[in-house]
Amino acid sequence: MNSKIEVAIVGGGPAGCTLAALLAQRGIRTLVFDDDKRPDLLVGESLLPSVVTLMRRLGIEERVAAFSQHKPGVGFLARDGSRLDFFFPQRAIKGRPNYAYNIPRPEYDNLLRTRAEELGVVFVKRRAELEGGNEGREIQLTAACLSEVPELAGKHPKLLVDSTGRARVFARLLGVDAARGKRNDVAYFAHFENFESEGQRDGQVVITTLEHGWSWRIPLPGRLSVGVVVDKSAVKGRGETAEERLEATIEAEPVLAAAGKGRRRITPVMTYTNYQLISERGHGPGWVAMGDAFGFVDPMLSPGLFMAMHSADLLDSGVFAKGIGILDQPERLAKAFDRVFAELRDWHEAWGEVIEYFYTGQMYALHAAGEQLSEKYGKFALPRLMEKHLTSQITRLLSGVATRSRYGRNLLKFSTKHLIWDVGPVEDYAIRA
Ligand SMILES: Cc1cc2nc3c(=O)[nH]c(=O)nc-3n(C[C@H](O)[C@H](O)[C@H](O)COP(=O)(O)OP(=O)(O)OC[C@H]3O[C@@H](n4cnc5c(N)ncnc54)[C@H](O)[C@@H]3O)c2cc1C
Repeated sequence: MNSKIEVAIVGGGPAGCTLAALLAQRGIRTLVFDDDKRPDLLVGESLLPSVVTLMRRLGIEERVAAFSQHKPGVGFLARDGSRLDFFFPQRAIKGRPNYAYNIPRPEYDNLLRTRAEELGVVFVKRRAELEGGNEGREIQLTAACLSEVPELAGKHPKLLVDSTGRARVFARLLGVDAARGKRNDVAYFAHFENFESEGQRDGQVVITTLEHGWSWRIPLPGRLSVGVVVDKSAVKGRGETAEERLEATIEAEPVLAAAGKGRRRITPVMTYTNYQLISERGHGPGWVAMGDAFGFVDPMLSPGLFMAMHSADLLDSGVFAKGIGILDQPERLAKAFDRVFAELRDWHEAWGEVIEYFYTGQMYALHAAGEQLSEKYGKFALPRLMEKHLTSQITRLLSGVATRSRYGRNLLKFSTKHLIWDVGPVEDYAIRA
C-alpha cells in the first residue's frame, strides 16, 4: 500500500490522465479519482498536430494510430459553395508533426488511462468527496473519503487537481464564477454510415457554414461523425428529442441533406450546451484546475483536447519541473501557477480571436478576395508570394503550432481589415443564428 500520494487528480479525461502520466514520468506519486461515467460517445474527435507531439512524449502514438483516422487538414465550406482547404505542411518543420488524427473518443481516453497506469498512476473508481478546506487548503477531501481510499492511507495529498471537465467540480464548490462566451448554441451529434464527408483527401475534416449555424464532418474508421452547432432558437420546432432535432436539421440544410441522402445513424445522438466559459480563477491554496474544468472557448477549430493536454504539459513544465518541494512552498507555488495561467489565458484569447474570423465571415471573405487577386495578378511573383505567406501563417494559427504568435495574429488582423475588396458583404459569409 502506498502512503505517499502527493497529488490527487479528480477526473480521468484527457487533461487528468495526461497530467497523471507526466507526473508519473517524474516519479511523483499520483492518484486519479474517476467516476468512470463516460458515455460511449463523446465530442472531441478531431485533433490538432500539436497533440501528436504530446502523444509522442507519452509514448502512445503508434497505439493511437492503430484505432484512429489520419487527418491531413481541414476544409471549410462557405454558404455560397466556395471552399477553403487547409492542409498541414507537406514536410515536418523542425520535427513538428505535420498531420493529426481523428480519434474515437472512448478508445483514446482508455488508452491515456492505460498509459498512466503503466507508468504507475493509481486509479480509484469513485467520485472524490470534497469540502471547504482548512490548514492552508481552500478545498479538501472529506475525512470519510480519506479513510475509505486505502491508497491514501489517511494522508491528505499536497495538491488536488480539478480535471472534471465541464462539471467544474471545484469551481462549483468554491463559487468561482466564469466568463461566458456570447454564443447561445446547442450542438447535436452522432455517428453515421453512408454519409459523404466531402473531404478532398482521406481523413480531411469538413466544417460547413449552414443556413443556420455550422456543422462538422469528422471521418473516423468505418464511420462519419456528424455534428450541427446551431443557435438554440433555430432548433425550436424541429422536434422534441435530440434525435429528431439532429435529423430535422440535416434535412433542413441542403448540403447536409444531399451528403447524407443514404445515411444510417449508428449511435444515439448526444447534446451539448453552454460550453463556452473560462473560470475567473484557476488555482488557490492546495488546488488547481485544468482542461475544460478551467475553460473552453468554442469547438469550431477543435482546440479542446489540445488545450486539455497542453494545460497538463504547462503545469508539468511550469510547476512540477521545479521539483516536488515546490508543493511545500505556497508563495512560490502560487507564483508558478500565476505564470502558467497567464499563458493559458493567452491561449484561450488567441483561439477566441482566430475562431471569430470564421463566425464573422471574414476568413471566407479574405479567401474570396485572395482568389480574385490571384486571377487578376497571379502571373506576378509578389502577389503569389504574399498569398503563400498568408496561407502558411493562417495554417500555423489554426493548427496550434503558432496560435499565439503576435506576428500571425497581427497579419490576419491587417489582412481582414485592408485586403477584403470586391467580394460583397462580409456578413454573407457569417455564421447565422
Ligand atoms: C460541441 C463540442 C465539440 C467538440 N469537438 C472537439 C473536437 O473536435 N476536438 C477537440 O479537441 N475538442 C473538441 N471539443 C472539446 C473537448 O471535448 C474537450 O475540450 C475535452 O474533452 C476536455 O478534456 P478534459 O479532460 O478537460 O475533460 P473531459 O473530457 O470532460 O473529462 C472529464 C473527466 O472527468 C470525469 N469526472 C467528471 N466529474 C467527476 C467527478 N466528480 N469525480 C470523478 N470524475 C469525474 C468524467 O467522467 C470525465 O472522464 C468539443 C466540445 C464541444 C462542446
